[in-house]
Amino acid sequence: DVVSPRPQDDTELAVEGALRPQSLTEFVGQHKVRGQLQLLLDAARIQQRSSDHILLSGPPGLGKTTLAMIVAYESERPLRMSSGPAIQHAGDLAALLSSLTPGEVLFIDEIHRMARSAEEMLYLAMEDFRIDIMVGKGAGATSIPLELAPFTLVGATTRSGLLPSPLRDRFGFTAHLEYYEPSELESVIERSALVLGIDLDDTQRSEIARRSRGTPRIANRLLRRVRDWTLVHGAGREVSLAGVQAALNLYDVDAIGLDRLDRAVLDALVRRFRGGPVGLSTLAVTVGEEADTVESVVEPYLVRIGFMGRTPRGRVATPEAYVHLGLPVPADMT
Ligand code: ADP
Repeated sequence: DVVSPRPQDDTELAVEGALRPQSLTEFVGQHKVRGQLQLLLDAARIQQRSSDHILLSGPPGLGKTTLAMIVAYESERPLRMSSGPAIQHAGDLAALLSSLTPGEVLFIDEIHRMARSAEEMLYLAMEDFRIDIMVGKGAGATSIPLELAPFTLVGATTRSGLLPSPLRDRFGFTAHLEYYEPSELESVIERSALVLGIDLDDTQRSEIARRSRGTPRIANRLLRRVRDWTLVHGAGREVSLAGVQAALNLYDVDAIGLDRLDRAVLDALVRRFRGGPVGLSTLAVTVGEEADTVESVVEPYLVRIGFMGRTPRGRVATPEAYVHLGLPVPADMT
């Protein structure tokens, strides 16, 4: 799916590597978070210590991994990358933590998917740089304390609400990443176009930005599809606005950047459930998608652009959703 906010395969991951800003100044948008991070890192540098632990939350593709890399780069420390699904036992985490070098930055993506037993071990590690290793079984079992090198944990999650509060409380700094403004996405595209050697004018950039669903990952991906289209169909490899539109239409991105799943959810909500309210799981089943994906990927954007509301009784469509689908707004809504 060309507009899925999640990375699609290893090739994409490699390209993303090339397009990643290295420093905080190159990182586009998120001004508040950037300023807060800068202060945190500067203070740690002055005192020559590891920075406080950092929790980044927000939908996929908004720059959480990039920021973790920037934290390591700016503090001139090595980075270790792992993810919640890879930590299925406390032992996995013990092995990871005990192999960290002093000051290392540990990035755990999708930290909410880590095993419960590992979570508890992490509390102690974050607070005291210490873990207790259990040896033996039954009555003879004992725990051996193990000192760890100080480290900075950077956790990423699509929904910080899924983290148990004792874990959330142990992060010294928590940032929520917001969807990007079209003007910010234009800057992302401008930078990426330079790296990829593609010439774009303002109208072409803004067309791609407008259709990128507020997400840098999607902006970069659409840019690559525009490059492909130009390579195959373009005269003299010059990008044209018609080419940009043709490429984006080919991949099912609508005029405001909604993808197939966004439209399916909206369509079900409006047609099938007459605008709601309808529960999340019913809605997810109707479109054949996992509730978690609908809740953490689809809904935040539809809510953000004012097409959907979340009420205690369930999800509801707004008049704007009807208009976008080309349907008459029900009389009781106006
Ligand atoms: P996440 O971890 O939140 O899913 P990533 O950090 O992997 O997102 O970002 C996805 C892609 O978007 C990367 O190629 C990254 O370089 C680009 N990107 C994300 N945020 C920014 C930004 N603020 N400025 C420039 N590029 C960005």
